[in-house]
Amino acid sequence: MRLSKTFVKTLREAPKDETAKNGALLTRAGYIHKEMAGVYDFLPLGIRVMENIKNIIRDELNKLGCEELQMTALQNPEPWEKTGRFSDQAVDIWFKTNLASGGELGLAPTHEEPIVNLMKSYISSYKDLPLSVYQFQTKFRNELRAKSGILRGREFLMKDLYSFHTNEEDLDKFYAEVEVAYKKIYERLGLGEDTFETFASGGIFSKYSHEFQTFLPVGEDDVYYNADKSVVLNKEVLNPETLNDLGVKEEELQQTTAAEVGNIFKLKFKYSEPLGLKYSDEQNSQQVVYMGCYGIGVSRVMGVIVEKYADDKGLVWPESVAPFKYHLIGIGENGMKRAEEFYASHPGEVLFDDRDLRPGEKFADAELMGMPYRIVISDKTLAEDSAEVTDRGTGESRLVKISEL
Ligand code: ATP
Ligand code: MG
Repeated sequence: MRLSKTFVKTLREAPKDETAKNGALLTRAGYIHKEMAGVYDFLPLGIRVMENIKNIIRDELNKLGCEELQMTALQNPEPWEKTGRFSDQAVDIWFKTNLASGGELGLAPTHEEPIVNLMKSYISSYKDLPLSVYQFQTKFRNELRAKSGILRGREFLMKDLYSFHTNEEDLDKFYAEVEVAYKKIYERLGLGEDTFETFASGGIFSKYSHEFQTFLPVGEDDVYYNADKSVVLNKEVLNPETLNDLGVKEEELQQTTAAEVGNIFKLKFKYSEPLGLKYSDEQNSQQVVYMGCYGIGVSRVMGVIVEKYADDKGLVWPESVAPFKYHLIGIGENGMKRAEEFYASHPGEVLFDDRDLRPGEKFADAELMGMPYRIVISDKTLAEDSAEVTDRGTGESRLVKISEL
């Protein structure tokens, strides 16, 4: 990608109404554009980050044998009425709209009802189970407050995974596999050391669910943790019963704020029962399907990575999600010529600042945009047959022979 060719421009100042650090920096660096509160466009660089995040998730879920599909955003009220969740009293964040031909539709805030409805066409026998499917899908939620940049969108990207089983042991086994996969995912996203599996409320069918919470000053959740962080629980389950279950005392817990980057839930029959998702067992009798669901907030994760790594100069991307690994700057006629050659021989890996600007402006933009390594080729470095490579995270520079770049 050449900065002279892209329509995207960096901004010196963030829009005044953008108070969140992630929203302000991503806007200034040209990754996103704000349409309105909680509603953002993703620009070419922003898409590349999102795709990298999606591919890490995809890779780990495919290893578990999960299959990817994509469901619709428009929702038929019927299955939601069967579970009681089309009502605005039950679910207060619906966006709804009317059909020109009459009747009402919803914009999906989540997809349990439609996936169960869909699976009624494909699951009929124990031989069809277990199975697990996931999607990356835009969700719509009429969130009361949307002031946290892409941490809380009214339109946002979620990965949602659903699993279907004949018995509880099989659900438990898969759930444990997802726990392991999620840990790998957050590690690969650069969030491993601050992200903790957290006890949260479970609903009717299971005592607890688990959230994955990234400890973060601007996180909206309150969580409590013990000294070695082996037990982390959400405020909503901070009660004598939970403390007893987890073998911890309230006095030994500390409080902090965190951002929920994912959650996993044993649904059991919560949706399969009211929607009639059944299979026939070996004795040919009808049984209700066991289910689990597992979410990751993909766009929120991108915002959390920004919040965790950014410094006062701008974004800092971990290599695993960076839109480009290298930010290439040529200075002077010879530097520019060598930079052109390097760019041509590394297709797809390099963001090339080939604009006719002062070096200082280019350096400031490189720091704002946050690629892991800046490569500068100038008369000065060429005198040593080298380029200067600077690590965005540590700020350390070293000369590298052009032939070894
Ligand atoms: P929260 O408590 O933050 O509102 P939630 O419990 O409503 O989250 P789920 O419905 O389980 O979340 O959604 C799965 C994941 O999607 C969450 O773990 C979170 O990472 C992400 N998510 C939820 N709401 C939003 C939002 N408004 N914007 C961005 N990501 C979101
Ligand atoms: Mg919510």
